[in-house]
Amino acid sequence: PHFSFESHEKSLENKVILITGAGDGIGKQAALSYASSGAILILLGKTVEKLERVYDEIIRRGGKQPSIVPLDLAGATLSHYEGMADTISGEYGRLDGILFNASILGNLCPFGQIKESEYDNVMQVNLKSQFLITKALLPLLNEAESASVVFTSSSVGTKGRAFWSTYCVSKFATEGMMQTLADEYKNTHLRFNSINPGPTKTDMRAKAFPAEDPSLLKTPLQIMPTYIYLMDDVSRGINGQLLDCQPS
Ligand code: NDP
Repeated sequence: PHFSFESHEKSLENKVILITGAGDGIGKQAALSYASSGAILILLGKTVEKLERVYDEIIRRGGKQPSIVPLDLAGATLSHYEGMADTISGEYGRLDGILFNASILGNLCPFGQIKESEYDNVMQVNLKSQFLITKALLPLLNEAESASVVFTSSSVGTKGRAFWSTYCVSKFATEGMMQTLADEYKNTHLRFNSINPGPTKTDMRAKAFPAEDPSLLKTPLQIMPTYIYLMDDVSRGINGQLLDCQPS
């Protein structure tokens, strides 16, 4: 489904929201936009310098002080996420939202050439980390008055495409995880949905389509209405849906 949504200022006031991959691309923009709407961000990402830049930018724009969690999803285990849950619990006592945004493209190649180590790495970063983070943070989501978990899909999350290899598999499985959780928690104060950003001007897109003219692409800022909508209380009742930022 598609919709047009104008967020009102401070619509995410004091919502505590974790974003994975908050240092760059769409995740960085989501952090800035959520902070502008009054949210308190927990910025998780691999490169600490990028997270610090986002932190500084949020403060410079008058946003609430965020937290930084430098973590490589490729190596993190359940105990890392349980430690993070303890910290969030001590600091805020609840979690109002998670945006699962971080992912890697891996190598685009013929199926027979996918390396096993590459498959494992992409599935760890794109898929298993989401399972572990959700498992560790469910008790904190339950403490929120209303909590929204948003996964990031792709056009290859619902239709297979030649050479898109493990990335495609990980996005289909992400949809499965979202739908399973949505069904399990239906009629509760937790909701689970996913977003397909559509072609968006980021480093990942440039890597996937090196010959494309990036000036023709939507910017991360332009696709933010869908991201804000799913965190905003106005989307209570929306559960198990895949929202497309750029429907054709
Ligand atoms: P980018 O590559 O620009 O940003 C990805 C972010 O994820 C970076 O901040 C990166 O951190 C972080 N990340 C990657 N690997 C890890 C890791 N191992 N541990 C922690 N953090 C990690 O991607 P986009 O902004 O383009 O993509 C965001 C989401 O949108 C992804 O899920 C992608 O699949 C999806 N998407 C994007 C589309 C597009 O056109 N851009 C289209 C369809 C879907 P660092 O920089 O420190 O490595």
